[in-house]
Amino acid sequence: MKLSDLRPCDFCNGPVGFCFRVITIALAVVNRRAVQEAVGFHAMGWPLGLTEAMGAHASSGDPVAVAEDNELVTRLFACQDCYATKLSALAVAAEARDAETAAGEGSA
Ligand SMILES: [Zn+2]
Repeated sequence: MKLSDLRPCDFCNGPVGFCFRVITIALAVVNRRAVQEAVGFHAMGWPLGLTEAMGAHASSGDPVAVAEDNELVTRLFACQDCYATKLSALAVAAEARDAETAAGEGSA
């Protein structure tokens, strides 16, 4: 990110400061057909990991598509104050996600 890309906080319109959060919101869509295929293979006793490894859903594309196109992705800037106050539920969810990810990495 360039300095010229910096802009005020999207929540208070104040300066973001030297340390701030960039919140990315991307549209995600689950491919119903790929899910039905995976469920079908699972019903036949295939574990989900095996159906993915064998490309069982290859005929119907990616099982989950996450938008990367700028028109479908929103990036919000949040100063530390807004992140801690106005977005406290988001901050709690992010900490829980980080803890779960760290625990998963620890068990691998
Ligand atoms: Zn703010």
